Amino acid sequence: MPCRVCHSTKLEQFLDLGDQPHCDSLLLPKDLGHKEPYYPLQVCFCHDCTAVQINYTVPKETMFEEYLYVSGTTQTLRTHFQDSTARLVKRLGLKAGDLVVDIGSNDGTWLACYENFGLRTLGVDGAKNLAEMANKRGVETWAKFFNAGVARDIIAQKGRAKLVTAAGVFFHLEELHSVTEGIAELIRDGGVFCVQAISLAGMIKYTQFDQVYHEHLTYWTVHSLDRLFSQYGLEIFHAGMLPIHGGSMELLVAPRGTQKIDASVAKMRADEKELGCDKIETYKKFAKRVWEIEAELMAILRDYHAKGKKIYAFGAPAKGATLLNSFHITTELVQCAVEVNQMKVGKYIPGARMPILDEKTTDVPDAYLILAWNFLKEFLPKKRDYIMAGGKFIVPIPTPVVIDKNNYAQYA
Ligand SMILES: [Zn+2]
Repeated sequence: MPCRVCHSTKLEQFLDLGDQPHCDSLLLPKDLGHKEPYYPLQVCFCHDCTAVQINYTVPKETMFEEYLYVSGTTQTLRTHFQDSTARLVKRLGLKAGDLVVDIGSNDGTWLACYENFGLRTLGVDGAKNLAEMANKRGVETWAKFFNAGVARDIIAQKGRAKLVTAAGVFFHLEELHSVTEGIAELIRDGGVFCVQAISLAGMIKYTQFDQVYHEHLTYWTVHSLDRLFSQYGLEIFHAGMLPIHGGSMELLVAPRGTQKIDASVAKMRADEKELGCDKIETYKKFAKRVWEIEAELMAILRDYHAKGKKIYAFGAPAKGATLLNSFHITTELVQCAVEVNQMKVGKYIPGARMPILDEKTTDVPDAYLILAWNFLKEFLPKKRDYIMAGGKFIVPIPTPVVIDKNNYAQYA
């Protein structure tokens, strides 16, 4: 497979997480009778443009047409979108009547925040179930996978956009080049594109290898995104970091020459270079640390198991499937996962085949394995009583740690 960004064939694999099922294709009890499909999960580095990517694509229709990740589920994410809206409206001077298009708009959580500002909004999302949820709440959403053709339809029906956003979707894009071409068309009349994406630099720094799953095709740096955007006459003019999802970057992008380039862009590039994001050696070291995490985490889990202690997974996020399946953690060590998202309850995490139970009606174990560590700060205070009563949180990333009543204050 050639590089997804620059089409070079100089890709080098540095991390092999083995064959794994698609993390969000949760199993129903009736599915347990046959084996779910497994696909390679291997991560590569492009020696030409430095883009990090997986080398196998599960078709987007398999992964996204029925999607279980709902933006509105967590308060952290709702607050994040409110803050992002206020910041962008002010910075870009958006006025009533301006058009905002959100790509991968999910249940409309972000676009709903623009209502108070009198802006026109349109969501585009390939997940039919989510588009329906958004339309029901009054956020107009097209149930389509955004690409250049969809962009032309939008322009024909609504005109060009002042702001196009893509939060937590830019690593999903199978039609990366058509999508970027569409964005360039949409913002051609003085518009801006805002992309929020998990930062590869953060992933490396904190060994967040569980961000690797089949839905995440590309792992971005400012440098590799710029290589993509420049092919479509776009340039990055502002770069910031946001705390969401364990460290995401927010880049503002515009047609070349239309915006003053902020010093933050060069700064983020320099930080990436200092971290070694442009060198294969950095990724080889990253891979080595992944297997060290495995050894440490498995030692903790096996120790609990040997002492007859019960461990449940806390949350069943997509990244959790990567962690469980990469380390071959089965229900022998972790009996089940507890969730608040009712779309997941009653199903099974693929691969590990771990049952997902309703958090509200399930007993508490001796320890929880925290799979959605990016929301730790939101969970910890809610589970304070549990921890004070002797319960434990096993947090696997960046290095396995057990949070109990003695060190609770340090993490809360
Ligand atoms: Zn490349």
